[in-house]
Amino acid sequence: MSSGSWDYSLFWKETLNQIRSGLSEQEWLMWFKNITYEKSGEATITISVPSSFYRDQVKQRYENKILQTLHELTGSSISLEYIITAPKQKKTEEEPHSSGPAPSKQAIKADKKKRPQNASLRADYIFENFVVGDNNSFAANAAYAISKNPGTAYNPCLIYGGVGLGKTHLIQAIGNAAHLNFESSKIVYVTAETFTNEFIQAIRDKNNHKFKNKYRNVDVLLIDDIHFLQNKDQTQEELFHTFNALYDANKQMVFTCDRPVSELKQLTDRLRSRFERGLNVDLQPPNYETRVAILRQKSDGQKISIANEVLELIAKNITTNVRDLEAALTKLIAYGELVNKEISIDIAQKQLRDIFSNPKQSNVNIDVIQRVVAEYFGQSHIDLRGKKRTKAIVFPRQLAMYIIRQMTEYSTTEVGLEFGGRDHTTVMHACQRIESRMKADPTLEPIVQQLLRQIKEQSSR
Ligand code: ADP
Ligand code: MG
Repeated sequence: MSSGSWDYSLFWKETLNQIRSGLSEQEWLMWFKNITYEKSGEATITISVPSSFYRDQVKQRYENKILQTLHELTGSSISLEYIITAPKQKKTEEEPHSSGPAPSKQAIKADKKKRPQNASLRADYIFENFVVGDNNSFAANAAYAISKNPGTAYNPCLIYGGVGLGKTHLIQAIGNAAHLNFESSKIVYVTAETFTNEFIQAIRDKNNHKFKNKYRNVDVLLIDDIHFLQNKDQTQEELFHTFNALYDANKQMVFTCDRPVSELKQLTDRLRSRFERGLNVDLQPPNYETRVAILRQKSDGQKISIANEVLELIAKNITTNVRDLEAALTKLIAYGELVNKEISIDIAQKQLRDIFSNPKQSNVNIDVIQRVVAEYFGQSHIDLRGKKRTKAIVFPRQLAMYIIRQMTEYSTTEVGLEFGGRDHTTVMHACQRIESRMKADPTLEPIVQQLLRQIKEQSSR
């Protein structure tokens, strides 16, 4: 029988309709916009997708659902066949996920061409070095799609998540890949802090137009850590206008933030609504398997080989974020090279004992620290974070800032924001004050130790 006798195209359409109703618009556009129905066979539907990466992702994410829906609609078991049509891609181009095991544990591959490196980007922050797991696959795939087609589907894009989860890596990977994919594109990456400082400098130098020129004539604008813009009203205003200009010109913008934008209190509503306009995706901490995969990827290519059990030991003990995983691995590798020995489980356990018990990687959050310190001194949590400057509150506040810096990875800027938007210099000053008081007053140390214990206890609950 010729294949022309079978026609499941209407069932296919209806299947898509049903699937669409269960997906967000973003997810729908991301995965189904580029699928084309090709033909039907006796018990097959052939669809075309733009790449093997797409095929693998669609298979993994949606195939079961598609087959089930088709079965309900047609009453028979229909299988899917995929063909890959990559109209705009050159044949020699390597596609991501083109081979190997489940894509979720593999790094995304980027295209390699000749254009010299963009100096504002780190050369190793590329998709190839980014391990994709359940915790980050949506963000990673969105980032990858943006680097292929800047200024189209996901504009602006905001990637948010806690410290050390890969925000900077991903936003720079977009920059690096777009830089290679689009020969003459102008790509600018800045941290929000640098953006702010340049803006202030421009005002000082009465050089506003130069600043405007720089940021309004780009094809891809990447701004890292926009939580830094809180309370910086004039910079927010400037970014608002930059945003509008670029948006109207269909230029791609990507931002990162350490929390959902809705939780940025000190941000003007109109700028917030701009950030929320496009695609907002989050990064979660990696699960155990992904942590092992990340460690494996980072340890491959090192001079000292590291056994799987050792990587598993690290992955079991360090659960917070990728930066902490890297720190542990770096320490082991440095030790291995120093003593020129392969790293056994025993050595690893001994070398990493401090890190494993270090409060920095035990999910301590600022709120818990503030509450414990406030309570210890009989003060309210609100006053501790607030504006009051009485003696009774100033010391606990400084101590809380000091402890946060000791126990967490938050920058002085971030800590300042958690204390009513204080400047980072205030936080630095507070830490220095506490340090010198601890030197001068031996009774302070045991109090700090007790507070640390209490905070650890409360955090592990
Ligand atoms: P953030 O900006 O969110 O604080 P970074 O992007 O600086 O985090 O990531 C911290 C470190 O962890 C970097 O060295 C980065 O390369 C690495 N990293 C984060 N996520 C991954 C990942 N999924 N795969 C490989 N390395 C990662
Ligand atoms: Mg970062």
